[in-house]
Amino acid sequence: MSITENVALAQETLNPFEIVQKQIDEAAAYLQLPQHITDILKKPKRVLTVNFPVKMDDGSVVVFEGYRSQHNDAIGPGKGGIRFHPDVTLDEVKALSMWMSFKCGVVGLPYGGGKGGVICDPHKLSKVELERVSRGYMEAIADFIGPDKDIPAPDVYTTPEIMGWMMDTYSRLKGVNTPGVITGKPLILGGSKGRNEATAQGCVYTVLAALKELDVSPEGAIVAVQGFGNAGRIAAKLLAEQGCKVVAVSDSRGGLYQAEGLDLPRVFALKDHAKLADYGESYVITNEELLELDVDILVPAALENVITGANAANIRARIIAEAANGPTTPEADKILQENGVLVIPDILANAGGVTVSYFEWVQNLANYYWTEEEVLERLSQRMYASYDAVRALSREHGTNLRTAAFMISIKRISEAMSARGWI
Ligand code: GLU
Repeated sequence: MSITENVALAQETLNPFEIVQKQIDEAAAYLQLPQHITDILKKPKRVLTVNFPVKMDDGSVVVFEGYRSQHNDAIGPGKGGIRFHPDVTLDEVKALSMWMSFKCGVVGLPYGGGKGGVICDPHKLSKVELERVSRGYMEAIADFIGPDKDIPAPDVYTTPEIMGWMMDTYSRLKGVNTPGVITGKPLILGGSKGRNEATAQGCVYTVLAALKELDVSPEGAIVAVQGFGNAGRIAAKLLAEQGCKVVAVSDSRGGLYQAEGLDLPRVFALKDHAKLADYGESYVITNEELLELDVDILVPAALENVITGANAANIRARIIAEAANGPTTPEADKILQENGVLVIPDILANAGGVTVSYFEWVQNLANYYWTEEEVLERLSQRMYASYDAVRALSREHGTNLRTAAFMISIKRISEAMSARGWI
């Protein structure tokens, strides 16, 4: 590592809670808001820590720690996913709940932000243990959430199946079938058509808008996708369907690069039944290398802090579409802006997931279900309109898209807090 990289690393914080606070300050400065508004927004309103015992298959009992953070409920109930990951921290969950408030604000959903997490490694749990952890966590947070209070959803390493178990546990505890308590459920339990693809689909709409702006055709545009979960995997597929050339993908173990374009069906099959590296040794690259490839579009779709002050100057992509939450640090943002990289910020680029979660919740409350065409039509309208609004505001104030997106949300939340008489 060079001296400049070391200096950059030493200076910047990688704590997501501090990062989101910086992002709020930056946007608030443009809006010239009174200090008390930023004071409110810079902390979550309520945070719950739970510790719950789970019986493991070998007869032992393990106590798992989990969190649920509710950031701001001026606009509506909390909304946001539940993450199962060994590295989950309280500060991370708090930050993710804050990003959810701003995400919902950008696309105009009647929600505040929420987020949950459990410190666990789902890959080391049996299916039954996973179910017990899911139900145990839901039991522990059940009084804290609810369809009019705070509505969870999937996030990293949580699935529709887990949402189904959690909905069942909540409904049994309350004695009332309550599909609207959680979104991202299996279709048979009141899930929405299009929800599974929604994060990636929304991300692709924003990429198409950005390409149009740069006058680049999607046909043949070169793409690298970091992360092969729900967002990354489906984004790769949908971008390929738009004619893009997907040259690199990765999962937590590492990536693949093939200059002439990857054979995606083969990659998908390997991911399901073997490991990506079996594609061929000569194609193997690291996650770090993937980020610095010479591509048109880079889609970070895994975890936070992958683009930092240490590697931002090496990024060669023209567009970064943040399917992950928090992949870029404020330090990196500055460098990318100076280098003319168009960053579509997480709170816009990945807002498609929560948008279709909102549609799912609306369908649950009405007990009336939409066709996939209806879902996609409404999703695309919201994503394009939000992109245009963020773009226009960024031009007006000479900011990057992230700051403009925060400005839109902060303004909306402030108006709601004022209308309620809080400020
Ligand atoms: N976990 C997703 C996100 O970070 C989806 C949240 C939701 O659907 O409520 O946006």
